[in-house]
Amino acid sequence: SIPSPEYIKIHHAHRQFMTPEGGIINALDNISLSIAQSEFITLLGPSGCGKTTLLKIIAGFEELDSGDILLDGQSIIQQPAHKRPVNTVFQSYALFPHMTVGDNVGYGLDIAKVNKVERNQRVAEALTMVGLSGIEQRLPSQLSGGQQQRVALARAIINRPKLLLLDEPLSALDKNLRLQMQLELKNLQTELGICFIFVTHDQEEALTMSDQIVVLNSGKIDQIGTPDEIYHTPKTEFVARFIGESNILSGMVISKSENGVNIDCNGCTIFSHDQTLKLGEEVKLLLRPEHLSLTPNELEGPQAQLTMTLNQTVFVGSDYQLHGELSNGLPFSALTRKTNTPLIKGQQLTLYYQVDALHTIPAKQKSIKG
Ligand code: ATP
Repeated sequence: SIPSPEYIKIHHAHRQFMTPEGGIINALDNISLSIAQSEFITLLGPSGCGKTTLLKIIAGFEELDSGDILLDGQSIIQQPAHKRPVNTVFQSYALFPHMTVGDNVGYGLDIAKVNKVERNQRVAEALTMVGLSGIEQRLPSQLSGGQQQRVALARAIINRPKLLLLDEPLSALDKNLRLQMQLELKNLQTELGICFIFVTHDQEEALTMSDQIVVLNSGKIDQIGTPDEIYHTPKTEFVARFIGESNILSGMVISKSENGVNIDCNGCTIFSHDQTLKLGEEVKLLLRPEHLSLTPNELEGPQAQLTMTLNQTVFVGSDYQLHGELSNGLPFSALTRKTNTPLIKGQQLTLYYQVDALHTIPAKQKSIKG
């Protein structure tokens, strides 16, 4: 069957909180969102943007002030948490410490009074799916952090939920393990074919795993898109700054030709191919450091130049990050592979940029309203 593009529908979800000082916070400000069946979707945003509130509302640990949540066409907001076909994996694995791995994983089936034979078989299957077969008899304290999180995952998938919610499940793990688990989680989701809603404030994690990313900004959705769209064509300055390294320049179109436009950014001129821009229009431009280089042959397509005064060079393995400032004093950075000449602080560098990689951020920064 064709996956429904609206398997989960969040419809005008609104939730306020009172601060101790008597103020009002719109933790969720009239959010609408559709999620397809078997999609890996990530809620991304800084601390306090409303990620956890949305997850708790879907799980049934928190209520909406207004709006609705539909799963496969049915409203679920009147159902208590334990009746919803939804499970949650938390950052703290929340395993029962006195129970074996097998009893932790099988807990939901024991509650549902599934017979022992089927229960044991499904526990073994769930553990195999998370790469931990045969450890039923161990206690959580005898496992590493990564293994405990896999057990928590096995426990969350054993009763075949329609939807799995994951609240920063990898943030307690060290970096290498986290990278490995990111790939494993994505594989597990594909294998299970169910919808995962993943919460993180880590943009790299979001880019690695997601089919769609929802960027939240103060309780509103700034953008919904694939990792590629969010990274390359951010709709707002907030999204551009939150994802990846970014150079953002404000400027005004000062001349137009059939080739493109010249944009004056406080004394520094940037050339763009964006023919939709009008003479005199004020714009915000995004130029990622990887689309700039000291050597033109590292870049693709038409190029233009600008001058940067170098403040700092950082070696990051395959590349050098060059940090400095433009002639107008604004901070700027570039990523370059080779440096034929030694780089000296205070030096004026000619940087080439890939004209077609220049992205114009729409001037009206309206949030998506439901
Ligand atoms: P973090 O990454 O820090 O967990 P978050 O994006 O998950 O942040 P939420 O926990 O959803 O953010 O909180 C959104 C806003 O609502 C914040 O301003 C928070 O202070 C506020 N908030 C959340 N829960 C409550 C509550 N029970 N009472 C009062 N305010 C709350």
